[in-house]
Amino acid sequence: MQAGGRTAGSSASPQRARHVLIIEDEPALLRALRINLEARGYRVSTAASGLAALAQAKQRPPDAILLDLGLPDMDGTEVIGTLRGWSKAPVIVLSGRASSGDKIGALDAGADDYVTKPFSMAELMARLRAALRRDEPATGGAFRIGHAKIDLAAHTAVREPDQDGGKAVPVRLTPTEWRLLELLLRSPGQLIGSARLLASLWGPGHDDSTHYLRFHMAGLRRKLEDDPHRPRHLLTEPGMGYRYQP
Ligand code: CA
Repeated sequence: MQAGGRTAGSSASPQRARHVLIIEDEPALLRALRINLEARGYRVSTAASGLAALAQAKQRPPDAILLDLGLPDMDGTEVIGTLRGWSKAPVIVLSGRASSGDKIGALDAGADDYVTKPFSMAELMARLRAALRRDEPATGGAFRIGHAKIDLAAHTAVREPDQDGGKAVPVRLTPTEWRLLELLLRSPGQLIGSARLLASLWGPGHDDSTHYLRFHMAGLRRKLEDDPHRPRHLLTEPGMGYRYQP
């Protein structure tokens, strides 16, 4: 154990320590999470119930929240719904439930991502870093998908040559593909639920139109991925949504 990890100045980041609120009623897991986060330079506060968590988050607004769905006093999904009234901090759900309905419910309520228990600490830390990065200002709007270079500000996409001396080829995307791509690229590493994408693209009332999403995602992969059949950047989370993996 790394006693005093957060005061030892061992963090690679010169920025102020990010503050993570852990909401979890299982003492052993809460402790493991706290130790791991503090060892990585995060400031940590904790709550073991939904009401305590909401009070904590109001008093000391966190930069990110790890939330157990099964809390003694209220459902984690309700906690998200209440939080979302006044907090934009990314929420990563720690779900002990296997059913995808619960995860979709949590994502629809405003969660940003989820991990299923038992999860690997390394995976959770990667998800947390991605969630915190999402809050940082965008980097000029230039993105890369294999050999494809996308500039959101200039609204251009080109495919760079495989070998030296080749020519970059412009890639033509439909307006819907552009909007979908922009939604994904603006949240690197983040799972974006199908319901959220559908609502952003076509407004409310299109929850059943996931086949359109699949169609347009297939178009984006065909045009942008180096190997559309084995995409490495425009990823599907079956039954959940999509993710842009930088
Ligand atoms: Ca629990």
